[in-house]
Amino acid sequence: MLKTHKIALTPNNVQATQFAQHCGYARVAYNHGLADFKTGLDENVWHSHIALLNRFNAVKYDTYAWCKAMSQCVSKNAIYTNLNDAVKRWRSGQNRFPKFKKRSHSKSYQADSGRGTISVVGKRIKLPKIGWVRMFQNLRYLGTICKVVISKQGHRWFASILVDTFVDDPIPLVSERTDPRGKPGLGTDPIVGVDVGIKHLAVTSERQYFENPKALRRHERKLKRLQRQFSRKVKGSRNWYKLKDKIAKLHYRITCIRKDTHHKATTAIVKGASRIGIESLNVAGMIKNHKLAKALADASLSTFLEMLKYKSDAMDVKIVEADRFYPSSKTCSACGGVDSDLSLSDRTYHCSDCGHTQDRDLNAAINLRTVAEGHSETLNACGDSVSPQHVRRESSNQVWAAIAQGKPCLGTDYSCLVYHKNPNVLTLGAVNIPFRDGA
Ligand SMILES: [Zn+2]
Repeated sequence: MLKTHKIALTPNNVQATQFAQHCGYARVAYNHGLADFKTGLDENVWHSHIALLNRFNAVKYDTYAWCKAMSQCVSKNAIYTNLNDAVKRWRSGQNRFPKFKKRSHSKSYQADSGRGTISVVGKRIKLPKIGWVRMFQNLRYLGTICKVVISKQGHRWFASILVDTFVDDPIPLVSERTDPRGKPGLGTDPIVGVDVGIKHLAVTSERQYFENPKALRRHERKLKRLQRQFSRKVKGSRNWYKLKDKIAKLHYRITCIRKDTHHKATTAIVKGASRIGIESLNVAGMIKNHKLAKALADASLSTFLEMLKYKSDAMDVKIVEADRFYPSSKTCSACGGVDSDLSLSDRTYHCSDCGHTQDRDLNAAINLRTVAEGHSETLNACGDSVSPQHVRRESSNQVWAAIAQGKPCLGTDYSCLVYHKNPNVLTLGAVNIPFRDGA
């Protein structure tokens, strides 16, 4: 199983300079290859990535004599892997034609020359031409190191280490699993609904409230001031560079605050749940509301949900995603009635049918828990083919069992279950697609 661990590095000054030089070399090699490729296209010659690399290698010591001091894996990876990737994406129509890399944006390079070529001992990593560099942490996974990418964010250098772990540890079943701190099997944990939002980052049906750090908003004034000062400096001057670094550092800090809160909240939620119900966000649509756009981007809710998904996957907790059009906020968690007049500013939900009054976010979270429990409220919006009786709790359990054993499912109606890339995510009632072919 492939796993990545990104670790901050503490290079000395010489090493930091070498990192920057290697990033530059990767950029030069990439741009050389791309220019070559473009000229080839103009002359109706298709250069493959192998040809491009050979052509670069033939001229590199003459054209770029300084590159003798660099690790040559860098140029190989830049052309053979990265440029090849970019061209492939362009040919398949996924991306536009590759662009030349700019000096100001090229802050990474791939350092390995294949599987098992880089060694990590304790808190040190040995990189070609640079030598042993100290790391902030030990590598989390045991296995063969497949790929190492060195990158810079703000003022800090990182190594992203991709490890092919020795064992595909089978994830223990929920009922058998025990917490290292002696908590009994997490199978006894409740089913939890999670409502995400701007006021609170997340509210669970267990009445846990996770505050939104509003990282950008907290630093907005400072950022504005720095950017104003930056705009007045002479471009390329010493003070211009100083402020540029300061701004990058502040952006990095904002990202860190956000990430930290997300990690803490998602871990806490996943650890205390046996199954999680979430909503599918239409963030692209929500961001069109200009009044909310900044706050939404600041909360980065999609990242939060992605994090929740991969952590649930690792801990074998099932995630049930409600249909995108499921009105989780507008539905009454007591009687199931829908109040379509509820506006964004109403912080309290009040049901006109049964008189139920509750905090808006908590009400939504309870509704999402109901979805996760396998009830059918989400299915009404999905048209005729998906009717409520199609989803039964047993049937989804059977699906889980079948997925766990790798069997195709027979004899059950799975018309409202959509099989995700992540086998632990089920979408209920969204599209009418059979979940596995040939069943
Ligand atoms: Zn009600």
